[in-house]
Amino acid sequence: STARVVVVGGGFGGAACARALKRAQDNLQIILIEPNAVFTSCPFSNEVIAGLREIEAQQFGYDKLAAEGVTVIGQAVTAIDPARRSVMTSDGVALPYDRLVLSPGIDFHFEALPGYDDAASEKMPHAWKAGAQTLLLRRQLEAMEDGGTVAIAVPANPSRCPPAPYERASLIAHYLKTRKPRSKVLVLDAKDSFSQQRLFEKAWKELYGDMIERIALSQGGRVTSVDAATKTIVTEFGNYTPDVANVIPPQRASRIAEIAGVTDATGWCPIDPVTFESKLVKNMHVIGDACLGGGIPKSASATSAQGKACAAAIVALLAGRAPEAPRLTGVCYNTVAPGYGFSLAGNYQPRGEIFAEVEGGATSPVDAPRELRAREAADAERWFQTITADTFG
Ligand code: FAD
Repeated sequence: STARVVVVGGGFGGAACARALKRAQDNLQIILIEPNAVFTSCPFSNEVIAGLREIEAQQFGYDKLAAEGVTVIGQAVTAIDPARRSVMTSDGVALPYDRLVLSPGIDFHFEALPGYDDAASEKMPHAWKAGAQTLLLRRQLEAMEDGGTVAIAVPANPSRCPPAPYERASLIAHYLKTRKPRSKVLVLDAKDSFSQQRLFEKAWKELYGDMIERIALSQGGRVTSVDAATKTIVTEFGNYTPDVANVIPPQRASRIAEIAGVTDATGWCPIDPVTFESKLVKNMHVIGDACLGGGIPKSASATSAQGKACAAAIVALLAGRAPEAPRLTGVCYNTVAPGYGFSLAGNYQPRGEIFAEVEGGATSPVDAPRELRAREAADAERWFQTITADTFG
């Protein structure tokens, strides 16, 4: 009989992995389980918040995957039985597997931020999963009076897409500069330094003057609790009551990973970086934001590369061959205003228990003509077209 691989989560990792498995070996039975009929992409959702793009441009379905022979099931996985090798979906059906791939993304670590939960996110949106939250934050910005303050609470690493909070601060500043120029952006940060910091800070000065103020960890910027009823953000330094509060909470692997038993005390999933197989449960592979990747960033770009490498490893394992160690590439674009972008590209290989960055990476120069910034903003759009076509198209 043919082997069956079940993939949980149809985001950038799961969809890429399911498609790569089917393309590599057509006689495999590939089942993709994802509760949402339409996936909404986080990359470029900061543009939606800033009114530069509509949410529809972020949305993708699974018809093409289904047409290629991937069986797509519109349910959530609620339980996993590793001894029987079967997953249970929300409609009560049990599906057996030979190999299981989990790419469920993140959930929020509410216990680490007193006062914040799903109800609070309706007042103080995180907008760190794209969709309704993205639109809520946009509507709050649109409703704010000129002269208001928008606060962005930024968590410590590891977190999904570490540079994205600063891209968001930039694009919100762009919106305010063009519509409500007396307003401010306040970044309350649980970190001292961040990815591509010099590029961001130079762009902020150049484009937005002193509109963006950042309070770093060592200045007391870490948010310690919130109160949604009064829209108050409490930091180690003091209390803030901004007009718009975008609270990005601390994160961990999505809940189903914990149910599956593949998370450790960090809240993330330790894996063998050659096969992506869990260190804790056999025949279960974890890719994307949920895994403990070491030096590899939690980005759609790296996640997609992981999905393909995991597919290759599973094909080899099912055939009784030793998988080859992958060399993964990720590129991350940041857009700070229309026509002004920069990037960070990296290569990653297994080293011990994790991925380590290896030679060949590149970052945009800090001093560069606007022409290059314009070209990189265009490259960013092209990157989005390419990765979404590659994953869902
Ligand atoms: P996801 O893409 O989140 O997919 C997880 C899927 O699993 C979801 O569809 C979910 O519904 C499903 N799922 C969860 N639980 C279950 C369950 N129990 N049963 C079935 N399905 C389940 N990355 C870049 O490379 N470039 C960028 O420019 C970029 N910009 C970003 C901007 C923002 C504002 C944010 C927040 C992130 C950005 N990222 C970017 C990061 C990128 O979104 C993530 O790294 C990527 O989505 C991770 O893919 P994933 O497959 O791990 O998770």
